[in-house]
Amino acid sequence: MQAQIYDTIIIGAGPAGLTAGIYAAREGLRVLLIENLALPAQAISADLIENYPGFPEGVGGFDLIEKFKAQAKRFGLEPKSEKAEAIFFDAKENIFQVKTENNTYRSLALILAVGARYRELGVKGEAEFRGKGISYCAVCDAAFFRDKEVVVAGGGNSAVSEAIYLSRFCRKVILVHRRNRLRASADLAQRAKGNKKIEIILESVVAEIFGKERVEGIVLKKQNVTGERRIACSGVFIAVGFIPNTDIARSLVETDQSGYIITDEAMCTSQQGIFACGDCRAKVLRQVITACGDAACAAFSASEYIRRLKGDAYE
Ligand code: NAP
Repeated sequence: MQAQIYDTIIIGAGPAGLTAGIYAAREGLRVLLIENLALPAQAISADLIENYPGFPEGVGGFDLIEKFKAQAKRFGLEPKSEKAEAIFFDAKENIFQVKTENNTYRSLALILAVGARYRELGVKGEAEFRGKGISYCAVCDAAFFRDKEVVVAGGGNSAVSEAIYLSRFCRKVILVHRRNRLRASADLAQRAKGNKKIEIILESVVAEIFGKERVEGIVLKKQNVTGERRIACSGVFIAVGFIPNTDIARSLVETDQSGYIITDEAMCTSQQGIFACGDCRAKVLRQVITACGDAACAAFSASEYIRRLKGDAYE
């Protein structure tokens, strides 16, 4: 017997995937959401999210995701904890297939909410102090470091933007970059150089992050020079790039140079019937709230697409 065909399959169970699930299921669509438990949403690890509206005291990332899940289930969303390993499109039948380790699921539309993961620095202390003074997101966590001294690792647009953003809160921001010049765009680099609170240390790397309960400092190593020095700080912001989790989709949808999925404003990708939302999409600001906004659009567009497809099929 041929397996049932869902209206839409959503891949990813972060804020984007779950919001798409809420919208699509509430519209009465038959929705399957595939969640890879081995790659939890970034938001889950956020200690406190203070900039998501509706929570005056802030909300823990885990708690917020649990609320999203409960809301989605109320509307009949069907979640499956499996890793999506491949997707295929049958152009003749207009059907997508999602292969997991043990199953193959079929749908009329596909919503990709697969997210992106922060690139790690890979130094001693990074895993130990994550959430205890180490952050990968200044917009999320800068307010916790008011009047403190922090280090930012990286030299691209993210690192320099984060340093500038942090300078509004922190007493001092030390930007550590491994090359002899910043990779960031000239205007951003210029703004950082002209900012009295930002000290830029070039040709150097954060070799270790140390502390007791929380971060207390870094070990700084200058490239091609023996010896190292310790710098005291309360926080370390790691901004050495992101890795979008889009490998699964790259043969079907257009991505930018870094692998982010290109969409239009309605979250349509280059492949008819595939929609993308959240951090896996090429865009300027990756936050819970922007993921949710994307997802509402993606679910709306998917629903319109499915409606047209079903209408066509019945004609
Ligand atoms: P990125 O441009 O890839 O820069 C990553 C930076 O981290 C590079 O300077 C790189 O050094 C450094 N790095 C990587 N691995 C490292 C390691 N193990 N140790 C030390 N340093 C390491 O990434 P991004 O800054 O996150 O930007 C990603 C994309 O978003 C870019 O397209 C960027 O333009 C865009 N973006 C734009 C804005 C804006 O326009 N305001 C803001 C944020 C992001 P090397 O230079 O030596 O490679």
